[in-house]
Amino acid sequence: MLILVINCGSSSVKYELLNVAKETSICGGIVECIGGVRSSVAHEVVDGELIKRRIPCKDHHEAIEIVRDTLIDPRHGVLSDVSDVAGVGHRVVHGGEEFHSSTLIDRSVIRSIEKFSELAPLHNPPALEGIKSCMKIFELVPQVAVFDTAFHHAMPEYAYCYGIPYKYYKKYAIRKYGFHGTSHRYVSIKAALVLKKPLEEVNLITAHLGNGCSITAVAGGKSIDTSMGFTPLDGLLMGTRSGSIDPAVVFFLMKKENLTAEDISDALNKKSGFLGVSGVSNDIRDILEAIKEGNKRAKLAYDIFVYRIKKYIGSYAAVLGNVDAVVFTAGIGENVPEIKNEMKKSFSYLVESGTRFMTIRTNEELLIAKDTYKIITEQTK
Ligand code: AMP
Repeated sequence: MLILVINCGSSSVKYELLNVAKETSICGGIVECIGGVRSSVAHEVVDGELIKRRIPCKDHHEAIEIVRDTLIDPRHGVLSDVSDVAGVGHRVVHGGEEFHSSTLIDRSVIRSIEKFSELAPLHNPPALEGIKSCMKIFELVPQVAVFDTAFHHAMPEYAYCYGIPYKYYKKYAIRKYGFHGTSHRYVSIKAALVLKKPLEEVNLITAHLGNGCSITAVAGGKSIDTSMGFTPLDGLLMGTRSGSIDPAVVFFLMKKENLTAEDISDALNKKSGFLGVSGVSNDIRDILEAIKEGNKRAKLAYDIFVYRIKKYIGSYAAVLGNVDAVVFTAGIGENVPEIKNEMKKSFSYLVESGTRFMTIRTNEELLIAKDTYKIITEQTK
């Protein structure tokens, strides 16, 4: 059973074709710089060569056409026809309060994703374009939406409600949603297998540390709290995002620097984090290099990053009581073992009481493909 996974960004479409039964990837790639003069496609068949082409691409619809043409291309393609694809799974960032799990896409789901675009203006609109295009281009193939927010729906009210006038929650649904849910869920499932315990019986702290970073407290296999909030700006220090700050800093800076809401959003989302503090880079590899060269601000950025991870692990350990494992994943979590080692040292009391500290490679595409497969097979029963 072949499932195509589509992940649309504002100017890119990532795709991966997976064999769900074998849990293997067949090929994948990215169409980049959509709408620009440097549009390109990079396509790689597993254990095959990487093919890169410059190709005109004005919008997401054309990008999805390029994906289809690449998949059925007689030279580099892997399919004889689009009907070989059993389902298309779409990564959708925001499912608001409505979607607690992955869902088959129909008109009403599209309307809801449209509605939640207000909550994720950078992410939901391109996902919608991808969905609408796939419905035309892969006409008879069922489409499934897998939401980043869905895993966090088990959070109790006292964890997701902010201490602001309740009317704003009622009027605008301002609350904590949490993100990276597919990754937190994937590593939770894997950790339960490593621990040889049923998922419903494991308590975990999962740290997704990539360009975006979030930590989740998982009780009995369910998310009960997470560091990201109403948007993916809250919580840990990230590549270019500030993570938590006193909200009063926003009004203070707006006044002092005469900034608009958009300016301040830009500063906190794109010019903060590792990049903003160090002045060096958003990439931890450059930060670590700069630290070796004696750069004090790079060291400060790294120290803030590690300190916050420690604070979240400590607070989630308090919330969970018993912790079976602390799991590190994503670009930084998988490749910078110093962070896991430092946490292991800091939480020696957890280690002594049996908590494991482990690294698990995330695979959101596989989970999206598995959800898609499950939903379409249930549908056809
Ligand atoms: P992700 O969002 O999971 O793709 O993670 C991207 C981030 O992970 C990059 O910005 C780097 O900070 C970090 N990263 C990726 N690969 C490595 C690596 N091999 N060694 C150290 N850090 C890495």
